[in-house]
Amino acid sequence: MATIDLRQVEKKFGDVYAVKPVDLTIASGEFVVLLGPSGCGKTTTLRMISGLEAVTDGRIFIGDRDVTWRHPSDRDIAFVFQLYALYPHMSVEKNITFPLEAQKEPAQVIRERLTYVVELLQIQHLLRQKPGSLSGGDKQRVALARALVRKPSAFLMDEPLGALDADFRETMRAEIKKLHIAEQATTVYVTHDQIEAMAMGDRIVVMSAAVVQQVGTPAEVYYDPANLFVARFIGSPGMNLVMGKLAGGVVHLPGGNQYKVPARWLRPLTTHLATDTVILGFRPEAALLHPDGPLKSEVYASDLHGAFNMLHLTLEEAVIHVRAERGGRIQMGTHLAFDLDADMVRFFDPQTEKAIVPEA
Ligand code: ATP
Repeated sequence: MATIDLRQVEKKFGDVYAVKPVDLTIASGEFVVLLGPSGCGKTTTLRMISGLEAVTDGRIFIGDRDVTWRHPSDRDIAFVFQLYALYPHMSVEKNITFPLEAQKEPAQVIRERLTYVVELLQIQHLLRQKPGSLSGGDKQRVALARALVRKPSAFLMDEPLGALDADFRETMRAEIKKLHIAEQATTVYVTHDQIEAMAMGDRIVVMSAAVVQQVGTPAEVYYDPANLFVARFIGSPGMNLVMGKLAGGVVHLPGGNQYKVPARWLRPLTTHLATDTVILGFRPEAALLHPDGPLKSEVYASDLHGAFNMLHLTLEEAVIHVRAERGGRIQMGTHLAFDLDADMVRFFDPQTEKAIVPEA
């Protein structure tokens, strides 16, 4: 398996950027997810790595080879699409072995590789069937088998589970992850589904409006979003973001609420902020409901999620989401007090929209 290195890679269609210059090094064997809303440039980035789309500028290395201007077939990569792209007139077995036959591999090698991928994906019973008679999930397994059989340097996957229903996506997600672990295959995986990204990625590249917003592990993008976009986009619901005024070591929040700034943030806040306005951020599980909590709110709605309740609370005009571990539905209008887990509090600069970094 190989590293993939993007150096100042960009793509313009006419005058419009689909991908602004990006630097990204993917380690050998790493599983990297490109995540972002529709139109942010994920697919274009993947297509540039594959060679299906030419770069406007920058260079792409796979292993130590500069492949920027190489044909897709000369990049030693396998592409798995959402649409299975199987040959309908060929049996499953032929579909899988076809890439090896096209490369004129010896029959013995073809048999060994076929046996290996068929066992890995548990599709022995499908070999004689034609793709048309298979379920969506089985078609995707066959497509994966066909990609795997060549032992490419890297796998590129564009929403490979997009066409499957929710239950099955979860099963296939686990299978792709298992395959990745078995093969130690460098993988770049595109999705707009952040749950999929969090579950599968060693690292996530969060994109928006043609720009890479953050590259980090699932825990990094969740707990330490680099900016307001990532804070809102990751998590369901996203991070609570409440505008406040900083004065005397306290953030004054809507509804007359005050939150004492934890010590490690005091200096960074005063040095970084251009005005006294700051955005306080915290995840729903960082709010600790407690009758003596310093923050006062009112229940606006409550959703039962089974294992927990998601409460929608108002602090005057601000609406926040708070996770309550147990209990039935809570009446609208109920007054609830809460505190915040100081380790899970974050601050953002409303002007730059960037996270402020605390002292260690
Ligand atoms: P989706 O999840 O909807 O596929 P995406 O994040 O993969 O979105 P891209 O498909 O990479 O986004 O598209 C990025 C931008 O580039 C979009 O604004 C899109 O309209 C534009 N774009 C993509 N391909 C072309 C093209 N061939 N010609 C012109 N514009 C294009």
